[in-house]
Amino acid sequence: MKYVDEFRDRHLARQLAAAIAAEVDPEREYRLMEFCGGHTHAIFRYGIQQLMPPNLRFVHGPGCPVCVLPMTRLDQAIAMTREHGVTLCTYGDLMRVPASGRRTLLKAKAAGADVRMIYSTQDVLRIARDEPERQVVFMAIGFETTTPPTAVAILQARAEGLKNLSFLCNHVLTPPALRAILSLAGPEGVRLDGILGPSHVSTVIGTRPYEFVPNQFGIPVVIAGFEPLDVMQSALMLVRQINDGRREVENQYSRAVGEGGNARALELMARVFVTRPSFEWRGLGFLPESAPALAEDYADLDAERRFPVTVETSREIKGCECPAILRGLKEPTECKLFGAVCTPDNPMGACMVSSEGACAAYWSHRTHMPSSGLNR
Ligand code: SF4
Repeated sequence: MKYVDEFRDRHLARQLAAAIAAEVDPEREYRLMEFCGGHTHAIFRYGIQQLMPPNLRFVHGPGCPVCVLPMTRLDQAIAMTREHGVTLCTYGDLMRVPASGRRTLLKAKAAGADVRMIYSTQDVLRIARDEPERQVVFMAIGFETTTPPTAVAILQARAEGLKNLSFLCNHVLTPPALRAILSLAGPEGVRLDGILGPSHVSTVIGTRPYEFVPNQFGIPVVIAGFEPLDVMQSALMLVRQINDGRREVENQYSRAVGEGGNARALELMARVFVTRPSFEWRGLGFLPESAPALAEDYADLDAERRFPVTVETSREIKGCECPAILRGLKEPTECKLFGAVCTPDNPMGACMVSSEGACAAYWSHRTHMPSSGLNR
């Protein structure tokens, strides 16, 4: 038996589903936002929504780092290759995300730009070492989970004295995005009764940074693991909090997450980064103090300073509902382009490209949504 099998047990899943069904109040609605794209995929892959009572709905959140990257940053990266001839390295998903005018990094590569897909920051360091005649730029993305490895790469580049490597930092922070979602009101807003908090991010930052959610917004949070029983148990914990009138941060993923997070990772991030006053998110606009940038001591490794470019105003592809989907206001099937012109082979927006995107989840699991992929 593998360690994960216990978290995919069909019998336990049925017991959890029965407990949830027994405890939900039929007179009320439970709208639970899964912040993270990893949860969205677990919900679809294992048919978890179908195991829930009809008055409990999962609302998809903005927790996909590729999806929340605004077009401007992709336009900026493409412009760096064009205007400065840099070697741009980044992770696979980003290569196919449409920028302005449906350009992509992949199309820029086909047109002659030196764009390379990498699997880890160590690949970037190796390319910079092996090709000292090239200026190598690492387009770094991700939430707090992938920020510490970027910090390590920056420190390594400095220690080795690499003069031809710099970093285009697109990392973003989870709590400000959560605050922005909860602050949206009126027609722009989404009503939520509970939050399934991200698990991998929380291994780095801990549970404490979410305390503003119950304290200021009166909404309970449960930090939830990514396996199907994790998600179901977390839903049950939220149902119980809601029924009891409690508003707390609870930790379902206690096997990996502590209150204070990972002290070493947080120290590395604090050493290398400062918080930007403001950063643009796709779907959420400019959010204050929502993203790190390289600290002044590392300014010489900052690609934005080394290779400045000016990009024109970026425009979303007409009809693409990614911004509304990222705010939890619409579901992918409400987008007119879904499955018609927008598919994983021909994506119109980031939500269909990314392995964590809501549109990709709907597309991948739409034919067998009613069944469950849980173990017997
Ligand atoms: S289906 Fe395609 S076009 Fe529609 S919101 Fe999703 S990614 Fe955008």
